[in-house]
Amino acid sequence: KIEKTDLLIVGSGAAGFTASMAAREAGVKNLIMIEKMAVPGGNSQLAAGGMNAAGTKFQKQAGIEDNPQLMFDDTMKGGKNVSNPDLVRVLADKSNESIEWLDKHGATLSHVGQGGGSSAARMHGPADGAFVGPYLSKFFRDEAAKSNLDLRLNTKLVKLIKGTNGEITGALVKGKHTGIYQIDAKAVILATGGIGANPELIQKLRPDISPEVKTSNQPGSQGDGIILGENVGAAVVDAKEIQLNPTLLVGSPVIVSETVRGAGAVFVNKEGKRFISELTTRDKTSAAVSKQTGGVAYEIFDQKVRDKVKQTGAAFELGLAKEGRTLEELGKNAGIDPKNLAATIAQYNKYAEAGNDPEFGRPKISAKVDTPNFYAIEVTPAIHYYMGGLKINPQAKVIDKNGKVIEGLFAAGEVTGGVHGKNRLGGNSISETITFGRISGEEAAKRIANN
Ligand code: ADP
Repeated sequence: KIEKTDLLIVGSGAAGFTASMAAREAGVKNLIMIEKMAVPGGNSQLAAGGMNAAGTKFQKQAGIEDNPQLMFDDTMKGGKNVSNPDLVRVLADKSNESIEWLDKHGATLSHVGQGGGSSAARMHGPADGAFVGPYLSKFFRDEAAKSNLDLRLNTKLVKLIKGTNGEITGALVKGKHTGIYQIDAKAVILATGGIGANPELIQKLRPDISPEVKTSNQPGSQGDGIILGENVGAAVVDAKEIQLNPTLLVGSPVIVSETVRGAGAVFVNKEGKRFISELTTRDKTSAAVSKQTGGVAYEIFDQKVRDKVKQTGAAFELGLAKEGRTLEELGKNAGIDPKNLAATIAQYNKYAEAGNDPEFGRPKISAKVDTPNFYAIEVTPAIHYYMGGLKINPQAKVIDKNGKVIEGLFAAGEVTGGVHGKNRLGGNSISETITFGRISGEEAAKRIANN
């Protein structure tokens, strides 16, 4: 059986859903979206932080000065200058437009927080300070229902089909109950996410990463889109670049957002000592946490931060946050040297008062940890994100090993490489999915209109 459609979108994370909306807005009438898991959402649904954007009205309302050039510079620097500058330029320049686009459709990311490696507060989340992933995921599911999107769950891409001129003409997909069938399409968008739940592939690419390291990824992140793209000649960039996130909540699959540290949490080890600036990049932080006793660290914060930052909530709901009326009591309850902890925080508070951290150079140090109760959350690094992936151009067209566009094949989101280089900044993943998701949908629509 062969089905015919105009556009086939593979994957139901933020990139896939955004592409579907943008394609429809650009006039695409017939589209099918497939998702191999039983539920939509992908890793996007788990995103704890926010969406980076520069020069937004929400930043202006909060008195934050920022601009796309600064976001470009931060992203290039964070990625150690190996990112493709043309893609980073698009990410930064279109970020405000993407925030506006979401807002126009009813997804308002008006809360602005600080992420690691960003020189301005530009991590946008929902107004109440909740997680961005679940919020956007619900928004996308509602949109899909409203627009009667043909979303087929339990349906996996197994092969891309090439026409006689090397263009992509469709795919073989496998439904859990229907078996394998063919969908012919004028364009295919790969939005299949990363590789974080494929330990064999990770070991092959990075034998230096211990097989013991946990993952924050949902089980569908197996690298399918990258492998199937390569099978039709696509080039892969930055193949070895796998990011660990330093702060998986120990005992859960939940990542503790950087915004908790941004709002004032202090990192200590079991000995109760600080060991790094709380707001440096993820690669440096992960390496530093791995070296501490037991490969863990603790985020220490007070009642002010707990009240202000929603992202601490999961640790409390899961019963994994430790508590004390004093820092000594907290130390005892959390298994951190109590005397050192109290001394470290007393010293930290002096730095906060002076607005300068001579020991570790934490930027924008101002909030003291001084309002009981006190809390500790234990964290450890986990495999989090694949910076590598399919090579694309700024039109989200997939590029082959000879540097030529593979006609009819588009990709957006974590499945692509080139945007984040050797290290992704927190908040840039959702930003990438929305901006390049939109571009892939619009560009696919152009191709469909011309064919
Ligand atoms: P992004 O952040 O780039 O949108 P996500 O991880 O959020 O990526 O979403 C990717 C989605 O693609 C996941 O839901 C994943 O299960 C799905 N997916 C991965 N491989 C396939 C495949 N072969 N066929 C269909 N869906 C897939």
